[in-house]
Amino acid sequence: MLKATARDEITGIVGKGNASFGKEELLCYSYDATNSLYPPDGVVFPGGPEEISRILRLANTEGFPVIPRGAGTGFTGGALAVEGGVILSLERLKGIREIDTANLTADVEPGVITGDLQAEAERLGLFYPPDPTSLKFSTIGGNIAECAGGPRAIKYGVTRDYVLGLEVVMPTGEIITTGTKKTMKGVVGYDLTRLMVGSEGTLGVVTRAFLRLLPLPEAKRTMLVEFLSLEDAAGAVEAVINAKVVPSTIEIIDDVCIRCVEKYAKVGGLASVEAVLLIEVDGKETGVQDDVARIRRIASERGAKTFWVASGRDEEKDIWNLRRAISPSLSKVKPTKLNEDVVVPRSNLVGLITGIEDIASKKGVVIASFGHAGDGNIHVNVMVDKNNAAEMQRGMDAVKDIFELTISLGGTISGEHGIGIAKASYIGMELSAEAIEVMRGIKKALDPNGILNPGKIFPKAFRQPQHA
Ligand SMILES: Cc1cc2nc3c(=O)[nH]c(=O)nc-3n(C[C@H](O)[C@H](O)[C@H](O)COP(=O)(O)OP(=O)(O)OC[C@H]3O[C@@H](n4cnc5c(N)ncnc54)[C@H](O)[C@@H]3O)c2cc1C
Repeated sequence: MLKATARDEITGIVGKGNASFGKEELLCYSYDATNSLYPPDGVVFPGGPEEISRILRLANTEGFPVIPRGAGTGFTGGALAVEGGVILSLERLKGIREIDTANLTADVEPGVITGDLQAEAERLGLFYPPDPTSLKFSTIGGNIAECAGGPRAIKYGVTRDYVLGLEVVMPTGEIITTGTKKTMKGVVGYDLTRLMVGSEGTLGVVTRAFLRLLPLPEAKRTMLVEFLSLEDAAGAVEAVINAKVVPSTIEIIDDVCIRCVEKYAKVGGLASVEAVLLIEVDGKETGVQDDVARIRRIASERGAKTFWVASGRDEEKDIWNLRRAISPSLSKVKPTKLNEDVVVPRSNLVGLITGIEDIASKKGVVIASFGHAGDGNIHVNVMVDKNNAAEMQRGMDAVKDIFELTISLGGTISGEHGIGIAKASYIGMELSAEAIEVMRGIKKALDPNGILNPGKIFPKAFRQPQHA
């Protein structure tokens, strides 16, 4: 519980109107994209790094948690106040300060919406590739904290590949800059930029990001390829990669997802197929045409039923609407979605897909799989009802089996959603005790009083959500 004096001091730092302790506002900042509710003790909307620094110094003196928050679209509970405390919303810091067309860099504040940066870069003939499917809502700060990826990661990599440097307010209040602002290289001292990227708001608050941009590709083609089995579709992905074609996107969608978007989002029209691949290629016009021809040939050899190339922007949009409708539609299948984002080496994709199908039938649960097959990253959604204890237990057992399968195939239990609270109890399946101790040591060194986003990443008991 926050002391009345601390509330007054917080309000004094950010100014009246930029801090709230009212029940209604607290409720709005109690959730993210997980199905949990953790009301904080306050929410604050700072106007810049100096105010954030003063809030963090106060938190250290008074001993209250501070939880950085972007748009709250995280899938692992990273922005939730699981130990109470103050939500530090970065939504006022949303300036695109500069897009430098000579150096191909951007200087942005953390609250910028990812899609807005992409649109602004495109307007100038430039390209910011990281594209989480949530890009219309998620923020650059949240993307950096989670090292977000997206469909284009297969060719263009993930958020960390575009962060040159950062301005960060440390948990104890110091304001530092890391890395470089406009140079593509820089090796002076430890790589604190990489340490911050993916640290899930536990090591520092990002207040400014210096990002790398690329020239906008000249041409693009979007394809939808239908298969009679998920295994055939996964086999086609392996074959495309093996043929050394590098599409900018290969998304896989299983039959549960297809039926679901048809029923609830009224998009699709794919009645008789069991799996689809959404594939995109980009680059020079001649290269793009060549890639489409090669992919068409490989898909047909691997049993594709139909192969459709979008003929313009509207058809491209139709194809992407199908993909983007999956996440929201799935929530209508069952009330509880145990949402995992495992990754395996791409040559083991078929092993993962068939293994997940086995687990679903052995545990008697519905599992919906879709996602970024091109980089081996599958979103595995175990669909259960939390009010049915036996089904919930079978779902949790299925999740553990999926993680074991993933690790046995040389993979990792999270490709882009992070650990937060949702996967904290599983990190020991992948990391050694010694590696976890090194990480705990880093956290302790930078945040000795444990005030910045406590209760995340490391296994630990935390208070129960008010409803889950
Ligand atoms: C429909 C849907 C689709 C999605 N698709 C993808 C996808 O394709 N790829 C993908 O990677 N993710 C995806 N996500 C997950 C989510 O959008 C990403 O994790 C995103 O990066 C979170 O951004 P946010 O601004 O919402 O952050 P929040 O949810 O607000 O916060 C996420 C974490 O970042 C920390 N944080 C936020 N801002 C800062 C800051 N300025 N400094 C320090 N820490 C900070 C928070 O403390 C928290 O730990 C999806 C989510 C949804 C709902």
